[in-house]
Amino acid sequence: MRTFPLRIGTPDGLLFKGEVERVVCRSISGDLAVLAGHCNFCTALGMGEAHIVLEDGTRREAACIGGMLSVINGECDVLATTWEWKEDIDAERASAAKERAEKMLAKGGLTDKEYKIAEAKLQRALVRLSVKE
Ligand code: ATP
Repeated sequence: MRTFPLRIGTPDGLLFKGEVERVVCRSISGDLAVLAGHCNFCTALGMGEAHIVLEDGTRREAACIGGMLSVINGECDVLATTWEWKEDIDAERASAAKERAEKMLAKGGLTDKEYKIAEAKLQRALVRLSVKE
């Protein structure tokens, strides 16, 4: 299968650079797969499971939480707010974060801002846990 160059970075630095067959992640308008030959393109990323398929067919899974993806002249760049490879996700931490967020939401009486923060924390925890499954 044809490959293309992919770079994945976060504010902490470059996490991946290499040739891949495919990158799949959640954009703000739905799931997105980029293959070789994709047209020039740019989108904001949502929160969701992501994966890449390497030249040798190895699949690497990750949690992708926000950012931007672009394809320019066949080269793909993912600049993610947070990109965590499956093996780096701490499931216990995510479960604890999920419980905390659920308790906050159940307690009620939150301001709009507190509600949005708790919801976003819950969504991040759920994405991390689903990648770990
Ligand atoms: P927590 O309440 O556990 O901090 P959070 O969703 O508020 O969860 P973030 O603000 O999204 O955490 O992330 C802060 C930093 O911690 C980021 O660098 C992120 O990659 C890392 N991180 C958060 N949760 C986990 C986890 N379960 N496993 C590995 N890294 C995590």
